[in-house]
Amino acid sequence: MVNRERLVNEFLELTGIDSLTKKERKMADALKARLEVMGYEVYEDDAGKKVGGEAGNIICTVKGTKKVPAIMFAAHMDTVEPGIGKKAVIDGDIIRTDGSTVLGGDDVSGIVCILEALRVIKETGEEHGDIQVVFTIAEEGGLYGSKNLDYSKIYAKYGFVMDSNGPIGTVAVKAPSQDKILVTVEGRAAHAGLSPEKGVDAIRIAVAAISGMKLGRIDHETTANVGVINGGRETNIVCDRVEIKAESRSRDDRKLGEQTRHMRERFEQAAVEFGGKVDFSAERVYPSFNIPADAPIMDILRKAAVSAGIKLIPEETGGGSDTNIFNGMGIESVDVSTGMDKVHSTEERISINDMVKAAELVVSIIRSVS
Ligand SMILES: [Zn+2]
Repeated sequence: MVNRERLVNEFLELTGIDSLTKKERKMADALKARLEVMGYEVYEDDAGKKVGGEAGNIICTVKGTKKVPAIMFAAHMDTVEPGIGKKAVIDGDIIRTDGSTVLGGDDVSGIVCILEALRVIKETGEEHGDIQVVFTIAEEGGLYGSKNLDYSKIYAKYGFVMDSNGPIGTVAVKAPSQDKILVTVEGRAAHAGLSPEKGVDAIRIAVAAISGMKLGRIDHETTANVGVINGGRETNIVCDRVEIKAESRSRDDRKLGEQTRHMRERFEQAAVEFGGKVDFSAERVYPSFNIPADAPIMDILRKAAVSAGIKLIPEETGGGSDTNIFNGMGIESVDVSTGMDKVHSTEERISINDMVKAAELVVSIIRSVS
């Protein structure tokens, strides 16, 4: 049985630890200690060194005796800002913040559900398969931990990332990939009053390119945005350089390729038209994933949801998470809701009942692997 009081206390203790992105040392040490108290060996990889962070990813393999596929549970250790000096307030069934910081339930709620489930399994002494626990660093702002995880240690076939919102039972089964786009438009500087005809205006090239560009919501699974534009020095100088940052996302990789190509073509055509130059680079920052209803991991989830008395709600999402990276590495993975709400804001909150149910779901998942 999930111990409600133990779960809540652990949530309060862990959200009390400052753990901003790449500053996860204290959190990593606290989680290591908790896993070691349970009697498990903990490994910390060198992802922190690779990304300039204080701590690496935590990997802990709980050996089982049942001959079933190994599963992985994952949650991230870092929080967004403002996240220093977090003070959780219990208000009936709701845990919220004092309004000055985020709560950090994103993703401590995932962490405590996993830890609590491990305790339950240990207390009952029941048979189970191998369970791999992964606590990642630097998920926020770049998925750096999962990208640099020591995958030589991971042999789990299925991954359950406890890092989603929505009613309990919500499971993200489809998520987009994203291209990050950097564009430098080069024109030619000239005196704007004496000899403007000698100049090539980089701003005009950028404007022409962007004004003819398909942006915003392209279709139900594709979006694009120009987020940053910088350039120019003075009003009396024809602008010779503009830098642009943009992105495109789609749950369909073919459409993503098409959208990014379209954006590149707009810039290149405009450059030719005005006699300037364009340097366009696009980087696929994470891959998409699409778990069909008949995938083996969905069988495990359906079974687990029934025995936990939870309605399974498969969902498509527009965001990226460690789940994208794990799928890209060949671990069939989904992102499971812990009940967290209004994340990345000082209004972040979570219902205790929801968190208890999410922990029960983790226990049921362990029992449902066959
Ligand atoms: Zn998160």
